[in-house]
Parts: sequence; C-alpha cells; structure tokens
Amino acid sequence: MEQSTFDAVNQFFDSAADRLKLADSLREMLRRPWRELQVHIPIRMDDGQIHVFTGYRVQHNAARGPYKGGVRYHPDADIEEVRALASLMTWKTALVDLPFGGAKGGVQVDPRQLSNNELNRLTRRYTQSIDHLIAPNRDIPAPDLGTNAQTMAWIMDAYGQLHGHSPAIVTGKPVEMGGSLGREAATGRGAAYILQEASRDFRLDIQEARIVVQGFGNAGSWAARLMRDMGCKIIGVSDVDGGVYNPGGLDVDRLFDYQIESGGIAGFSGSEEISNDDLLELDCDVLVPAAIDNVITENNAGNIKAKLIFEVANHPITPGADRILNEAGVTILPDILVNAGGVIVSYFEWTQNIQEFHWEEERVNQELKKKILVAYHAVQSRAVKEGITHRQASFEIGIQRVARVVELRGFV
Ligand code: NAD
Repeated sequence: MEQSTFDAVNQFFDSAADRLKLADSLREMLRRPWRELQVHIPIRMDDGQIHVFTGYRVQHNAARGPYKGGVRYHPDADIEEVRALASLMTWKTALVDLPFGGAKGGVQVDPRQLSNNELNRLTRRYTQSIDHLIAPNRDIPAPDLGTNAQTMAWIMDAYGQLHGHSPAIVTGKPVEMGGSLGREAATGRGAAYILQEASRDFRLDIQEARIVVQGFGNAGSWAARLMRDMGCKIIGVSDVDGGVYNPGGLDVDRLFDYQIESGGIAGFSGSEEISNDDLLELDCDVLVPAAIDNVITENNAGNIKAKLIFEVANHPITPGADRILNEAGVTILPDILVNAGGVIVSYFEWTQNIQEFHWEEERVNQELKKKILVAYHAVQSRAVKEGITHRQASFEIGIQRVARVVELRGFV
C-alpha cells in the first residue's frame, strides 16, 4: 500500500525521535493530532444545484500556544494530507520559536472551478462548521494552497457575525481589514533571506546562482522575485499547467504581470515550454519546489541535478526520495525551516491585531529576518556538529521544544 503523507511526515518525526531517545509514551502523544473534525458543507451552486463539499480542521498540538495553521482548498486535501500538514505546523512553530501550536484545515475542492460567489458561500459555511473550534486564543487559520487574503476576509467576516469584530481570528487577511504589511511576501521573503545566508555556508555565488521554481503562486512568485532581486537568475518556473524555461534568465516581474493578464504562465514570450516533470530535473544550482506535496519521489530523485533544494512547499519530497538525495550529497533545507516566514509574519499580524497597533513594513521585514536566521543558524550548526541532515536537525529542535512544554504541563 502507498504510504500516506501523514505516515511519511511521521517517518521524518521518528528518525528525529529515535536520535532524541524519546520515551514511547511521549512519542505517541506527540505523533497523534489532539483533535480532528470532518465537516460536510452543502453549497448552492450558481446553477441552482446543491453540491456537498468535504472539509477538515485538524488540531495537532497546542502545548506551546494556540493552534496555528493554514486552510487549503485542493481536490487532494484529504484527512491524511491535512493531518500531515498540521503536524508539520507543530514542529515549524516550535523551530522558529513562536508561541503557537500546529493545525491545518482543508476543503476538497478545486477553487478554479468555482465562481467568486460560490467560494464566498463555501468559505462562510466552512467557517460556521468549524466555529466552535477556532478563536483568537484557540486556533487561528491562515491562507495556504488555493486560498488567499480574500478567503481570510470572508472567514473573519463570518466569524465576526457571531462573535463581534475579531481581526485576530485569522492572519494573512487584507491590510485594509487589519492584515500585516509584508505578510503576502513573507513566505518567499523568509526563503530568500535563508538563501542569502546559506550561500556563504554552501559556497554559492548568489550573483551567479541559477534557480528553478515549481509553483508561481503566493509563495513561489515572491520567492522567485526576491531571489532575483538578490542577483540570482531564475531560469525555470512552472504552474499547474506546465512551465517556462530560459537558460539566460526569465524576467519574473513581466512573468508575474503576464500571469495576471492571461491567467497562467504558458505562452510567455522569450521562453521555451517545459513540463513540470522536466522542470524539476533541469540543470540548476538551487531547486525550489513551491507548489504541492510529494513531487520528488523515488521515481525522479535520481534525476535531480540541483545540489541544493529549498523546500518552500510543504512536504514536496517523500522519505524515499529524501534518502536518495541525501546519499547523492544533495543538501535539502526543509519546509519547516524554509517556509516558516509565512507563519512568523502571521504571528506579527496576530500580535498587531491584539494590540490594535500596526507596524511599518520595514519593521516586519527586519523582525522576520532576525527570527528566521536565528532558526537557520541553529539548524546549520546542529547539522554540522552532529553530522546529520538539515531536516533531522530541524525536526530535533522543534520536537525537543514541544516535548519540554508537554512535560512542564504535566501531560507525561
Ligand atoms: P497558491 O495557491 O498561491 O499557489 C500554488 C501554485 O502552485 C500555483 O502557481 C499553482 O498553479 C501551482 N500548482 C498547483 N498544483 C500544481 C502541480 N500539480 N504542479 C505544479 N504546480 C502546481 O499556494 P501558495 O500559498 O503559494 O502555497 C504553495 C506551497 O507553499 C504549499 O505547499 C503551501 O503549503 C506552502 N506554503 C505557503 C505559505 C503561504 O504563506 N502562502 C506558507 C508556508 C507554506
């Protein structure tokens, strides 16, 4: 039987837990989500028909603070995937030392097939269905794959109708409604800050670096543009329909505008077409998967030419592929470190909402840089000192922090 995404994430967890010599009882309580809710959401579609969508909210662990995690709209967002992503949030928030736990939500839907009105109704009904689980001090949703600031505005409005004005109920909302400056770019910006810092450790000339980015949505398009601003050459980019390639470098600003005008990146002038599979195997210095999970597997890991992989997407590499790449000497900077910029600035947004005091963007970016680089250096020095992978080092730091609080609270 194929391994589920949750089992795959737990394989990474177990490898770290083994080295940390965690007791079985503690390990069991850290692996499993504390609470899971499945909901069925009936929506009247624009054509008058009723369609019932399935959704989830998984609250993995709240030892260190309120549950925190995005909401994903994707046809494959089943319970195993949402569980896996919720667990990654627990280790991520601990690794970057935020006072949050880990959660994730998902609705099995292709948002591109729904009108704006249908998405609005779906989001409100989903919010009502999980209303008893969320609160500014209990569980705080945010955008993820297939959702955005508009989705968060609908959640905040639906929640506010029952509970009064509550901007801290979601992060990643529009700035006009209390969102933080810098939140939209934060995931890509955090990855770019790490690349700049890591280039010294990995002797990468950032001015010469050739980068390939899979996924040109919120996280991928910002990562591409900010890495380009540092001098890197973005030679390949893709979205769900395929990719574009130019070994001399793509004009990613023009590509971003082109995507808005044409609804995709296909047909971008000054580039060759390339499939998503071939894009991952391009000759480049840094490969940045920034789309969906499980794209690098045992089937294609041996063909990857990049020596450095930056996991902007969550869980893009299966454990089998991870092993092949490690053996081949490829350095993988893992999701729970590389894409933590999003949840770091979500934390800043939440604190700004609670204080009703807003920061300038420069302060947001400075504090983000400080926080994400502290985590990067902790991971890098542990990996070097212990002779382990960056993924093992990241999981170990996160797990140790959660385990400590679980003990302090007297759970074990
Ligand atoms: P998004 O919906 O804004 O963009 C997703 C992009 O991936 C789009 O360009 C889409 O066309 C492309 N895509 C979808 N399916 C694909 C496929 N099968 N092959 C290739 N490309 C495909 O989503 P996002 O918010 O940018 O999230 C992307 C990844 O980053 C996810 O794994 C998400 O969990 C992770 N992430 C996002 C944030 C955030 O703040 N948005 C934070 C942390 C992690």
